[in-house]
Amino acid sequence: MVSKVLSCATYGVNAFLVEVETHLERQIPGFSIVGLPDNAVRESRERILAAVRNCGFEFPLRKITVNLAPADIRKEGSSFDLPMAVGILAATNQAELDVLPDFVLVGELALDGTLRPIHGTLPMAMEMKRLGIKGMVVPRENGKEAAMVAGLDVYPLSSLKEAVEFLNADHARLAPLRVDVASLFAQDHHYFADFADVKGQENVKRALEVAAAGAHNITMIGPPGSGKTMLAKRLPSILPPLTFDEALETTKIHSVAGILPPDTALVATRPFRSPHHTISDAALVGGGTVPRPGEISLSHHGVLFLDELPEFARNVLEVLRQPLEDGAVTISRSRLSVTYPANFMLVCAMNPCPCGHYTDPNKDCTCGAAVIQKYMAKISGPLMDRIDLHIEVPAVKYRELASKENGEHSSAIRERVTVARHIQAERFTGKKGLYANADMQSRDIREFCTIDGTGEELLRMAITRLGLSARAYDRILKVARTIADLAGSQSIQPEHLSEAIQYRSLDRSLT
Ligand SMILES: [Zn+2]
Repeated sequence: MVSKVLSCATYGVNAFLVEVETHLERQIPGFSIVGLPDNAVRESRERILAAVRNCGFEFPLRKITVNLAPADIRKEGSSFDLPMAVGILAATNQAELDVLPDFVLVGELALDGTLRPIHGTLPMAMEMKRLGIKGMVVPRENGKEAAMVAGLDVYPLSSLKEAVEFLNADHARLAPLRVDVASLFAQDHHYFADFADVKGQENVKRALEVAAAGAHNITMIGPPGSGKTMLAKRLPSILPPLTFDEALETTKIHSVAGILPPDTALVATRPFRSPHHTISDAALVGGGTVPRPGEISLSHHGVLFLDELPEFARNVLEVLRQPLEDGAVTISRSRLSVTYPANFMLVCAMNPCPCGHYTDPNKDCTCGAAVIQKYMAKISGPLMDRIDLHIEVPAVKYRELASKENGEHSSAIRERVTVARHIQAERFTGKKGLYANADMQSRDIREFCTIDGTGEELLRMAITRLGLSARAYDRILKVARTIADLAGSQSIQPEHLSEAIQYRSLDRSLT
């Protein structure tokens, strides 16, 4: 007897159809799985055997061969437990064969036959819809995520027993899960932290607003306790709301990485990720024998925050460079190569010196000049070339902390940022790869950031008098363009340039 059950698997953030063929023969009992399975698939033999018996079915004492086709793509994970178990039951007439071509089945089995959630349900559902598959059976916890895909009937079930009953009869009477995508998307738009909670630091908030408005990467330099982390955490709340397509893209990555909370349909707010400085390069950009998305991809369409920047290993910071250019990362292994999107805003924070108090008027810095120079040198170079704004975060004054007055709410700042982004979107219509001012290359800067004679003079003076490096020139122009956009000004005025020049504090200490 042979049975064929449809299933699917992920490859990067995409999915593909897998056919699970089960063949039984009257020989010495055995159970083998072919089609490039990894260890997890081999382990599923034990789970399937236990689940089949514990659900009251008979496990055939035959020679069982399961083939996962196509054989040439590496498959991983435990999501084939359910289709393989159903395949065995269908091949022994314990489950209905006729309806199998209509449904795709995925799910991991517990020993008692309970269905456990899997990774990557959303990309799977999207691909099954594209292929015109009628329906999909998924573990209950993955139901909402799969049901985001309109035009595919999703049936969340709890156990192998329910899945067999579904195929035998229930498919005719069970209604597929429907989710109201629009209301889910609207409802989930809440932020956990608001700029109104941060007292004082108005200059820093302004710099973050400018960064958000132009999608510029930013570094904050200040003593411990000045609120750098608190400020960075609130950046997602002033970025323009995610579009539905952006939300889907981010959700796909979180789904594949297995970090989407159970019963969650969608990542509807911009992610904020803050990996510790001991992180490895593989964990940051993605990797592993079966490449997994790294922190930069989990931050896709959101914010990646690197606190204590100079503490990160040099090789870890080096690997950030390419993804910052490309907005994506390709992980190559001998047998496969996978590309994950990684379009994020980079926010870094650092102390001004190893002890942290170099710029603190209330405490004495104990570091010598040579030590500070060495510390600063750690972060110079190619990564800093991708960071448009540097802002000093002063120690918070007691007066500001004690003040009863609340700061401006994130929603008000977000509105200004969104307007500025619209101006940029219009300006860059038809320009490939250009969405925000931060994306401008030298050629675009010449075209869109023209300044008059007064501006030219101001910039020249700043560069010579403040000792700014030549590479600061382009970055100042880009940031000035954003400041002008926030002000609703067509042209870049001297005051926009002066403000942009203030956001280059590291140039002075690095050169
Ligand atoms: Zn110090």
